[in-house]
Amino acid sequence: MNFLEERITKDGIVKEGNVLKVDSFLNHQMDVALLDQLGQAFYERFKDKGITKILTIEASGIAIACSAARYFGVPVVFAKKSKSINIDGDMYVAEVESFTHKNKNNVIVSKKFLRPGDRVLIIDDFLANGCALQGLISITESACASVEGIGIAIEKGFQHGGRVIRNLGYDLYSAAIVEEMNAENGTIVFREQN
Ligand code: 5GP
Repeated sequence: MNFLEERITKDGIVKEGNVLKVDSFLNHQMDVALLDQLGQAFYERFKDKGITKILTIEASGIAIACSAARYFGVPVVFAKKSKSINIDGDMYVAEVESFTHKNKNNVIVSKKFLRPGDRVLIIDDFLANGCALQGLISITESACASVEGIGIAIEKGFQHGGRVIRNLGYDLYSAAIVEEMNAENGTIVFREQN
């Protein structure tokens, strides 16, 4: 087991509705040393891709993206969730359905911060059905920038997002892939990765 799988096994809580709670170390209280390990793992995986920018989505992706950015030495841009329908032309916009809240948000990124030719690493905390990633990919491509890689902390491999994104040809790396999890007895099984 790698460092993240061990931590999920120790502190992750399986909830009904295919939700894994990791709020004691990743997305409420945060273990900064673990975030640093994640940042380093993403760097090792994507360091040869000439990354110029890291793109994530608020809120839970931001800390992980910042840890990675320390290794890459590039800025982080986070897509903001916006209720407004009056979005001006200075923004790239994508509609994203939230897996955890079951609502839809527009997410926006200023055109100032994502430029044609940027080589983008997309980072997020979870991958479930892939809506958040599809939004970030669409924003990157609207900017005529390229998606050079996608780094996810925890992919739920029993949901279809990972398969869809890989089938589209994106270079997706997840530090931990949950193959199955059981809310009744709390067990979590990970996919073997090399
Ligand atoms: P997707 O868009 O891939 O369906 O879901 C990804 C987003 O939903 C992530 O940005 C994450 O915030 C949230 N999410 C999805 N599944 C889980 C989960 O099991 N636990 C937590 N804490 N967040 C999740």
